[in-house]
Formats: sequence, structure tokens, C-alpha cells
Amino acid sequence: MTKTKRLLKALQQPGVVTIVPMPEQRRLFIIGDEFLKSFEWKEVRGKALDRHGSFCMRCGRCRMDKDDAGEPVKITVDHVKPRRHFPELALDVGNLQVLCGDCNIAKGSWDHTDWRGKFVDRDEVHALFLDMRGEIERLQVALSAALEGRGIPISKKRKAKLERAQLGLPLAG
Ligand SMILES: [Zn+2]
Repeated sequence: MTKTKRLLKALQQPGVVTIVPMPEQRRLFIIGDEFLKSFEWKEVRGKALDRHGSFCMRCGRCRMDKDDAGEPVKITVDHVKPRRHFPELALDVGNLQVLCGDCNIAKGSWDHTDWRGKFVDRDEVHALFLDMRGEIERLQVALSAALEGRGIPISKKRKAKLERAQLGLPLAG
């Protein structure tokens, strides 16, 4: 029995999953430009955006931000394992990540870097920013109070904030 025949016989055993190679025509379609215009790609692309959100998972920018050229950021859906080398994963939502145009160009089809989970959630970043801003405002109020206590003049804006703090009103706004 030849090696090929032995292999085919082994594959026919129950419980053995046969991997059917992708037909060449299908492979060429997937690695070509027409694929990106297809309904099947647009559908899975939408699923990836729903799953990850419309912001770059590498640098955190969204459409409201500016790209490296100063234009509004373009959001792209990228194949972690490139479709050129892994056509069978081209429509697998588990192989997709959201990147901005600049980060996608920087990645290239030879690169398999998975950026998922490497960037904190945008809402989390915003919450951290608000926390930090609150902390800074409390320090500024403490500084204003210390300066005033020593008879050192403070700006009108700082005075207003100090008065709000003394009345127990929120500092922001
Ligand atoms: Zn980016």
C-alpha cells in the first residue's frame, strides 16, 4: 500500500475529521480585492465591530480623532492571521480585530500581532481621566486654601472653585 493510500484509509476511520482543502478558485477570491466588497465579508466585519467597538485596539483612536496625516481616523477590521496565508480564517470573527488605518498599514500581511485585549476599554480610560481630574481639582483647592490662608492672592477662577468646595458643591461645571 502506498503512503497516500494508507493515509486515505486512516482518514476514513470513524471519528477522524477530514480536512478538505479549500478549492483554488475560492482561495483566490478570498485573497483578492473583490472579497472586501462581498456580503459575507461585510456581515462578519459588522460582527467584529459589534464585538470590539469602533476604535483602534492598538492606539485607541476612533473616528472623532485625527490620523497621522491630520485627517479623520479610518476604522478598519483586520485579520489577525492574514487572509493571504490563512484563507480558511478569513470569515472567522475570532480572527478579526479593529485597527485604525495607520496601525493597519504599520502591521502588514506578514505580521500576526494580536492587539485584542492589549488596550483598555475606552470607557475605562475616560473614567480614569475623570478620576484623575477630580484628584487634581482637590489638590488645586487645597493649594488655593493654603495660599489664601497665608494672605497670598489667588486668581478669580481659583477663588470661585475654593468657594464652591467650601460650600460642598461639585468642583467641575
Ligand atoms: Zn491605531
